[in-house]
Amino acid sequence: MASAAGRVGRDPNSIQLVAVTKTVSVLAIQEVVRAGVKDLGESRVQEAKGKVSEMGDAVTWHLVGHLQTNKVRDAVQLFGFIHSVDRWELAQKLSQEAEKQGKQVQGLLQVNAAKESTKGGFFVEEVPEAIQKISVLPGLSLLGLMTIAPYSDDPETVRPIFRAMKSLFDRLPICNSKLLTVNSWSCLSMGMSNDFEVAIEEGATLVRVGSAIFGERNQEREVNRGNSI
Ligand SMILES: *Cc1c(COP(=O)(O)O)cnc(C)c1O
Repeated sequence: MASAAGRVGRDPNSIQLVAVTKTVSVLAIQEVVRAGVKDLGESRVQEAKGKVSEMGDAVTWHLVGHLQTNKVRDAVQLFGFIHSVDRWELAQKLSQEAEKQGKQVQGLLQVNAAKESTKGGFFVEEVPEAIQKISVLPGLSLLGLMTIAPYSDDPETVRPIFRAMKSLFDRLPICNSKLLTVNSWSCLSMGMSNDFEVAIEEGATLVRVGSAIFGERNQEREVNRGNSI
């Protein structure tokens, strides 16, 4: 991370690591937390439950996967940060539930930058209007954007996507000046194990890294779990 930041003259401290712990044991998670990681990511509410209670208050949990509306209550309880606000209905439900629990949910708008049918999220051209609508919801603060780039063996092929996301991210507070007062527009979540260096070079403020830290996941197990990503 530091060398990718250095290549483009960015301060490594301006980039946050979220260690994605899906399929990873609590013991392995404790090890990375001892090594200094404070932000952990899960893609499924059910899997996160036990881990969140075992890890205690010292860490912040990020939900990075698709959230069904019937799991919103648990998600608001468990996660400090929701990266996957991928539809208007979910944004409304998150805000309502946050108010019910007396909380403020911090969220990122998920962008389906390459219009992949297998992924959720707003298309780039839908983003300004979505933000305008969501920014009036009382229980949900939008802090930025998140995207999952199409998988590629060569991360250079997704560089244009990261670049377009950064440009969208920078333009948005101008589209909607209310954001500057109501929210702090500061997070651009992009980059995973295979492409986080390119994402950092293109302006990511937050990278979500799993297998590069914990080793390859058992693919079969993920399929059996119905992992949607
Ligand atoms: C699993 C996952 C990651 C981490 O993936 P790796 O390739 O293991 O780094 C990041 N973001 C999301 C949304 C994920 O589901």
